[in-house]
Amino acid sequence: MKAAVQMDMHGCPNRCRHCYLGHHMNPDIPVDEFIRVAEQFREYKKNGRTFFSELIFCSWYREPDFPDNYRELWELENRLSTGNVPHFELTSIWRLARDPYYAPWLKELGVKTVQVTMFGTEKNTDFFTGRKGAYADILKVFDILLANGVAPRIQVFPFTTTLDDINRLVAVLHDIRLEERVKDLGREFTCFFNTLTPMGEGFKLMQIVLRKDDIRKLPDYLIEKTLKHYKKATVQEFMKTEAELLTELLNDGNPLNDNPEITAFFIDGDYNVYPNCGEITGWWCLGNLKRDGVASVVENFFNRNTPGLKMNFETPVSYFARKYGNPDSDVLWVKSDLVHKWIRQEGMAGTSQE
Ligand code: SF4
Repeated sequence: MKAAVQMDMHGCPNRCRHCYLGHHMNPDIPVDEFIRVAEQFREYKKNGRTFFSELIFCSWYREPDFPDNYRELWELENRLSTGNVPHFELTSIWRLARDPYYAPWLKELGVKTVQVTMFGTEKNTDFFTGRKGAYADILKVFDILLANGVAPRIQVFPFTTTLDDINRLVAVLHDIRLEERVKDLGREFTCFFNTLTPMGEGFKLMQIVLRKDDIRKLPDYLIEKTLKHYKKATVQEFMKTEAELLTELLNDGNPLNDNPEITAFFIDGDYNVYPNCGEITGWWCLGNLKRDGVASVVENFFNRNTPGLKMNFETPVSYFARKYGNPDSDVLWVKSDLVHKWIRQEGMAGTSQE
C-alpha cells in the first residue's frame, strides 16, 4: 500500500478566499514531532505485517517551503520517505519574492515551472489571496523566475464580479511580454482559468461563481490558452451549467468515488487527520493521531468510517442531485465540484453524521 502523509507544520502566509483547505492558524510543529508522526505510520502493522510498503512524507499541505528551514525540511522529507519526494510546480511565491537563494535552489532541484495564482490585477489578487502585496510579489517573482530559467505558469480564478479585471490582467501580461519571455527560455507559456472547488473557504464564494453568460466576457486569449491546457475543443467540454449536469446526475446511481491517484493523510496542527479526497472539516476527520493513534485513523479511512467518506464512496450521486440540485441554475461546474458542493451541504446539515 502506497500513501502520502502530509503535515501542516507551518501553515501558509496567505488566506485565499477560494482555499479548499480552509483558514486555520499557522502551526509551529517541531521537527522531532514530525519525525515521531512518520515513525508511527512507518511502524503501523496489520496482521503482524508492515501495512504501508511505500510512504511519502511532506512537511506541508498548505504552502510548501514557507518556513526558513525549508531546505532542512526537504532533506528530512527525503530521508523519511521510501523514495524521492518530487518538488512539483507548487512553491512559495511569498518566499520567492523575499529569499534570493530560493529560486536557484528550486532550479537546482530540477523545477522547470512554477505555478502562480492570480485573480485579476492588484486589487482583486490582493483581496482574493487575502494578503496585501500579493500582486506586487507575483510581478517581482516573474522576473526572478525568468532570470533563473524557470517558467511561470499562471492559473487565474475568474468570478462574476471580476471579469473586467481579468481582461485588464491579460493586458498587463501582454505589456510585460510574459509569453515572449517564457518562449525565450525555449518553453511554452501556460496560462489557464481554473474552476472553483466549493469546499473549505471556497464554499463561501457561491454567489460569484461563473455563470454561462460570463464565459463570453473572458478574454479570447485566456479561453484559447485554457482550452489548450485542458486539451479541450470547447469550454462546454469541461464545464456545464448545473441545470445541464442535473439531467445526468439525477440518474447517476454510483457514488462520486473521488479517489486521488495517491491516498494522502493530511494532518493539521492539532494532529487531526483528514483524507485528501475530502476537506479539513469535522465530517471528514479520521481521528486524532495523538488521542486515537495511527491504527484507528488508518482503519477509519479504509473502513470508510466517517460521514464524508460514506458520502464520497457509498451514497449515490442521484441522492444528492434530488435533494440539492437546482434545475434552473446557470452556474458553471465541473461535475465532481458540483457533487462536492452537495456533499458539503449534506455535511453541514449534519444529516449524514453518525
Ligand atoms: S489556496 Fe494555497 S496559498 Fe491560498 S491560502 Fe490555501 S493553502 Fe494557502
